[in-house]
Amino acid sequence: MISQKMVALVKGSSVIRAMFEEGKKMAAEYGAENVYDFSLGNPNVPAPDAVREAIIDIVKNEPPLKLHGYMSNAGFEDVRATVAGSLNERFGTSFNENNIIMTVGAASGLNVTFKTLLNPGDEVITFAPYFGEYKNYVINYDGVLVEISPDTDTFRPNLKEFEEKITAKTKCVIVNSPNNPTGVVYSEATIKEMAGILESKQKEYGTSIYIVSDEPYRELVYGDIEVPYITKYYRNTIVGYSYSKSLSLPGERIGYLVIPSGVDDYSDVFAAACVATRILGYVNAPSLMQRVIKECINEKTDISYYDRNRITLYEGLIKAGFTCRKPEGAFYLFMKTPTGDDKEFVAAAKKYNILVVPGSSFGCPGYVRIAYCVAYETIVNSLPEFAKLAGDYGL
Ligand code: PLP
Repeated sequence: MISQKMVALVKGSSVIRAMFEEGKKMAAEYGAENVYDFSLGNPNVPAPDAVREAIIDIVKNEPPLKLHGYMSNAGFEDVRATVAGSLNERFGTSFNENNIIMTVGAASGLNVTFKTLLNPGDEVITFAPYFGEYKNYVINYDGVLVEISPDTDTFRPNLKEFEEKITAKTKCVIVNSPNNPTGVVYSEATIKEMAGILESKQKEYGTSIYIVSDEPYRELVYGDIEVPYITKYYRNTIVGYSYSKSLSLPGERIGYLVIPSGVDDYSDVFAAACVATRILGYVNAPSLMQRVIKECINEKTDISYYDRNRITLYEGLIKAGFTCRKPEGAFYLFMKTPTGDDKEFVAAAKKYNILVVPGSSFGCPGYVRIAYCVAYETIVNSLPEFAKLAGDYGL
């Protein structure tokens, strides 16, 4: 008999993953080119050539005992120093290797952070719509996820409700910008206002409230949109980063945490996060991938590829009669469903071999998420099917 906690987690297990499996089945049945699978955020831009070249070079030339051995839980010192240097250059920060812990992607960074910070019953605030796995990551450490209801006009954080829902038990606030699933980027003004609220609440309750900035999409922004680096606006900020999307390496599981020296109880937090990395079973981030990151620190994905998908999809959906906002970042579009029943809409879309994820999986019913990190042809070929779907609703 599995644990009661797991019974609940399996029951609520990711709808996105289930749809991904269904997409694979449908592709086998109808042919991959006839299935429009927008369910998973799996990048369709290959990793830069430099990544493959670095892997080959490192495997050929690094002494194997050094490359494949255990290391400090935080990761290789020179890799962490390189990451810190890159952040300092780009964002004017002053980090060093003692502020960086290499992680097994963003998922492990978040789990390590919550393991480090949460006591049972501590509250973690998230703004709906939000990445559904947050709920599980918080439950893992017996925390309580507190949702701030969505502002569906703008999909910017509802700061009035945020202020009202901060309590003496609030330990963390998750910020995810560029956002999954809306593609919204939070402005500097929003971050400043949020920081102001948190400063005064920390004073009021005499507590430490940490922003956990989950930013796997930081580099995926379009036009001249800027993504503020939150440690510069709010001292108690921990950043979780991942190369899953920015270098198209989701299967390789590599990212890092930034724990600035100025956060409350820095020494304890950093030391505890290193122990959490080990005892959660990650032990340390994959050695080969750490070395690759050092070599490829300045590599970038092809944003123009996602941008073309974004524009084509957005314009096609608007032309078909649907309602949605043009995403500013990440590679997701969050679309309003015609009747407000997202689950019914997901089922209706499936009749046209279109797979999208219900907004209720992100704490925001009435919408669907369309992941446009797919082949351009998938978007182009899906649009006539979306138009037929719109027709069914009289749009
Ligand atoms: N956070 C958000 C907002 C995500 O969208 C994802 C993955 O899609 C993750 C975290 C997990 O990313 P990783 O593959 O780096 O663990």
